Amino acid sequence: MSDDCIFCRIIKGEIPCSKVYEDKEILAFKDIHPQAPVHFLIIPKKHIATLADATLEDVPVLGRMLELAPRIAREQGASEGFRTIINTGRHGGQEVYHLHLHVLGGQPMPALLKY
Ligand code: 5GP
Ligand code: ZN
Repeated sequence: MSDDCIFCRIIKGEIPCSKVYEDKEILAFKDIHPQAPVHFLIIPKKHIATLADATLEDVPVLGRMLELAPRIAREQGASEGFRTIINTGRHGGQEVYHLHLHVLGGQPMPALLKY
């Protein structure tokens, strides 16, 4: 837990969130600025700053986050598929330094990259 981490504060209940899933190791909640009709974040309760900071010890929780994504996406109404994103570091566009998996859906998502 990190006192100055906004997602750790959400886990502790100090900042409210619109929760969509919780267990001992994982919390999922709606993004405060949704970029699609369905947009929620899946986070480990352990403070891991970025995907680049994850270690072998974190593999089980990362696997569970991926396994949960389709289940929660369906429950939230993304019936035709969804997009998962993990932004990592400055060049990855990461704003909150507590590892999180974005899940977006409920509409066709635009092409990710065009060259
Ligand atoms: P990043 O750019 O780090 O991948 O994404 C961070 C995401 O967290 C953004 O989509 C932003 O809208 C969301 N976010 C930031 N602060 C809060 C908050 O206090 N509550 C919720 N629910 N989402 C937040
Ligand atoms: Zn944190």
